[in-house]
Amino acid sequence: MTTTQTTIELGPFVDGAAEGVEGKVLEIHDPAGGRLVGATSAAGPDVVDRAVGAAHRAFPEWAARSVAERGELVAHAAQALRAAIDELAPLLTAEQGKPLRESRIELDRAAETLEHYAGLAKELRGASVAGLDPGVTGHVLRRPLGVVGAIVPWNFPTTLLANKLGPALVAGNTVVAKPADTTPLTTLRFAALAHEAGLPAGVFNVVPGKGAEAGEALVTHPLVAKVGFTGSTPTGERIMSLAAGGTKRLTLELGGSDPMIVLADADLSKAASAASMGRFFNCGQACLAVKRLYVAESALDQVVEAVVQKASRLTVGPGTQEGVQIGPLHTSGQRDRLEDQLRRTLELGGDVLTGGGRPEGEELANGWFHEPTVVLEPPHDSPMATEEVFGPALPIWAVRDLDDAIARANASPFGLGSSVWTSDLDAAEEAAQRLECGYTWINSPTKVYDELPFGGVKRSGFGKEHGSEAFDHYTDQKSIVVRRLRG
Ligand code: NAD
Repeated sequence: MTTTQTTIELGPFVDGAAEGVEGKVLEIHDPAGGRLVGATSAAGPDVVDRAVGAAHRAFPEWAARSVAERGELVAHAAQALRAAIDELAPLLTAEQGKPLRESRIELDRAAETLEHYAGLAKELRGASVAGLDPGVTGHVLRRPLGVVGAIVPWNFPTTLLANKLGPALVAGNTVVAKPADTTPLTTLRFAALAHEAGLPAGVFNVVPGKGAEAGEALVTHPLVAKVGFTGSTPTGERIMSLAAGGTKRLTLELGGSDPMIVLADADLSKAASAASMGRFFNCGQACLAVKRLYVAESALDQVVEAVVQKASRLTVGPGTQEGVQIGPLHTSGQRDRLEDQLRRTLELGGDVLTGGGRPEGEELANGWFHEPTVVLEPPHDSPMATEEVFGPALPIWAVRDLDDAIARANASPFGLGSSVWTSDLDAAEEAAQRLECGYTWINSPTKVYDELPFGGVKRSGFGKEHGSEAFDHYTDQKSIVVRRLRG
């Protein structure tokens, strides 16, 4: 690691050591003002091959360790991450843009997820079936798959990696992670800390680089047995086609456009807070953000007023500044896309109730900032209703009743999460059963629990992260039949 006053250089982390920053260099810039934060190498197929080779060599010894020992080493890695939050949070804010407070929350959640899987290590067991036939017993063994490629985006670089790293390592796999090309630094630093804390060389490698180069080299590498991917739906579909070549296993956590339904008998104040937090956290760049809000006609005015009030009071600014609640969008491209979606939507209809553009102020002029925005009643066929909006803009519609709300909610190609607010729990349960998605929150903010499986349906992907179910996606279940020799 080389640091100067203002920048940090971290090369690919391969076989227990950081390589130099050489060849094609990836510069990392602060989204709040463009400052050069640091640099890494843009890994090509050669670096990916070295990392996969190291992971492949490390696999037999790692898989042969007791599951308790693997759990303990993953717990040590989690402790190292937790102990380094003061160092890593500013780095995450510098490369990603999110407020420091949110960086600390993210790193803490990543450590929590690793600890969760470390804690489940001793529970990782298969099954036995007695009496398949007279004198015949069946055993179902869980076996690790081998080398796992873990590809993650930039919005939550560390938690989205921990969701894969935890179950994969505890189950006995080795991992080659590919962070987004704009947020590699925190991950590279974490890999070094995890190894200092005891992870053996080759068990967890990190190849920074572009999706089309490092990402595709990883997905198509013949020694990679499984790809755990989080990212956009088009990239997920591309990876699916690439993975077909080697009959590789896949988990795809893709885009979403989560609806939130608020019925008239809900606690409207809490619902409005959850909508605001759910939409504007991480500058709206979350897969399970509240991206469409459907409110019963009679409650519309009250909810709209509360949400607009909250949105307009959020403090926008650089993530390093005390009191800032909304940082910049991550890249100029992300902001361009949001502005384009808003423009195409408003050409078709809808009223901007607050925000709608870039905030004023000299200090914000060089960052990718956008005002928290609320749009009332854009047409149901406009981009805000039909596409994933990955930024701080919330559309709100009135709905006649629960049937109308569910029909609107389900009229999306995505199916990641949803939420329902009502004091009628029968209605809420009916809605939860009819909503086409992988997770429904009832009268609750959209918090993801490590205890429950998470993952989408439709074009939001397939496979589960979190929950003990995640182990199913990082193990093979092998059946063994034992016939007694006598009797
Ligand atoms: P993206 O698909 O562009 O990139 C994600 C990762 O894939 C990056 O590391 C990128 O370098 C890599 N990549 C890109 N092209 C690749 C290729 N051809 N082969 C292999 N790897 C490739 O995603 P993004 O736009 O950076 O991230 C935002 C998206 O992620 C949103 O759609 C969001 O909803 C989704 N997301 C989903 C979840 C979930 O759990 N379902 C969580 C967070 C984000």
